Amino acid sequence: MAAPWLPLSERLTEREAGRILAKLREHGSCWRWTGSTDHDGYARVWYRGRNWHMTRLLVWVLRGEAVAAGWDVAHQCHHPSCCNPAHLLVQDRRSNRAVRLAVAQRERRARPDIRWRRFEQQCRQHLREIYRYG
Ligand SMILES: [Zn+2]
Repeated sequence: MAAPWLPLSERLTEREAGRILAKLREHGSCWRWTGSTDHDGYARVWYRGRNWHMTRLLVWVLRGEAVAAGWDVAHQCHHPSCCNPAHLLVQDRRSNRAVRLAVAQRERRARPDIRWRRFEQQCRQHLREIYRYG
């Protein structure tokens, strides 16, 4: 989905963040989603009139850009309902399928997604702000 660039505070208001955070439960280092999921266990959430995959919503909210067609958000922790951005990795669909077959771990390490690191930083900072004011 093409989305206009907006400042982070407008992509996710405090109220929206609160609604999402209320449905997350820490489980080890994972943030398990307790809201609705699809038939594969992936978190789904209503956001501004549209039903989103939480992982894709997180990328849009925190990175400010939609996940491109042909790219997936993969879970490094292998828990489909996890929404901890530190456990998510944006990768092309072919690599994701390979990872699911557990043959592309080395390749993934060899091609770190630099922008994703920045996303993690933004996420941590944003959540810190929400907790501070929440
Ligand atoms: Zn996780």
